Amino acid sequence: MKVNYTGCAICDSAWGNLWEVVEGTRLFFCCAVCVAQFRNLVDRIKAEARWDAIDNLIIEGDRRGRLCTASRGAQSYSCRVAFNAEGAIRSFRTETIPSPT
Ligand SMILES: [Zn+2]
Repeated sequence: MKVNYTGCAICDSAWGNLWEVVEGTRLFFCCAVCVAQFRNLVDRIKAEARWDAIDNLIIEGDRRGRLCTASRGAQSYSCRVAFNAEGAIRSFRTETIPSPT
C-alpha cells in the first residue's frame, strides 16, 4: 500500500520514531494515536468499499477533518473522516465521485 505523506502516514509530522506494519507495508508514524487512526481508517475504507486491500491511499486535511482517496486497481473510493482523541473514528462520510462519462 502506498501513502502520499513522507512523514507520519496520517498527519505528515516529521518528528517521532514509530514504525508499524499496516497492510503489509512498513509505515512511519509520529505517535500511537496516529497508528490507531490509520488502522481504523484503513479497516473502514476496506469495509465500505468491500475491498480486500488498498493499493494507494491519499490523505489531505488536518485533525478537523480529512479527505481520503483510496484506490484498488482501477477502482477508487473517497471519504471524509474525523477522529476523536483516542484515534477512533468520530465521523465518516463517503464522498461521491462523479463517474467519468
Ligand atoms: Zn501523526
